[in-house]
Amino acid sequence: MATAGEMKALKKRLINALLYGPVQVVSYSYNGIRINHADFKRVATAISKNAVHVIVGNVPPDAAAMYVVSGDGENTFFVPKMSYGSVNHEKASIAHEAVHCILDIRKTVVPAITTEVMAYITTGILHMYFAISPRQGKDNLRDDVFMAANKVASIVVDEKRRALDATMPELQELAAAIQNHPNYSMTLGSTFSWGEDGVEGA
Ligand SMILES: [Zn+2]
Repeated sequence: MATAGEMKALKKRLINALLYGPVQVVSYSYNGIRINHADFKRVATAISKNAVHVIVGNVPPDAAAMYVVSGDGENTFFVPKMSYGSVNHEKASIAHEAVHCILDIRKTVVPAITTEVMAYITTGILHMYFAISPRQGKDNLRDDVFMAANKVASIVVDEKRRALDATMPELQELAAAIQNHPNYSMTLGSTFSWGEDGVEGA
């Protein structure tokens, strides 16, 4: 059983991962939907106010972390362990999940593939800034997702093109890689959404 002090420290790591470091310079739009540091700060504030909950556990073995948009107003970050958020690839995953939370707070209902592409653009940018190899070795299909995300990140960071859309070949490659992964098979449904219904108190 986690102590209150351990939970406080975990939340502080999640909050810090959203306020400090390269997440501060993440800035892009996808299909006209903008994401930048002010959005990540909004998620950090929501965690600090307990408008968004943090739970240790319930993460599938092949997932890094999870943000669940639920229909009854309970919006939760699930992380796999109490020490989560200590290392850079975990900080990148926290920012990925935060993108899901941002769209939920804003009630931006888009097809699940759109929110997943946006989340992986963020993952790719942070992997680039943290100088993490896109090959995490979890599984080959996920490596394809990371490689495609890295190519998109290069457009944003190296070429300084911040307005991205689904017609760009690199973005089509990223969407296809995500849809090819069994974890994201529901994103093959062109209208399926996670149901971003808002976060009370955020
Ligand atoms: Zn995601």
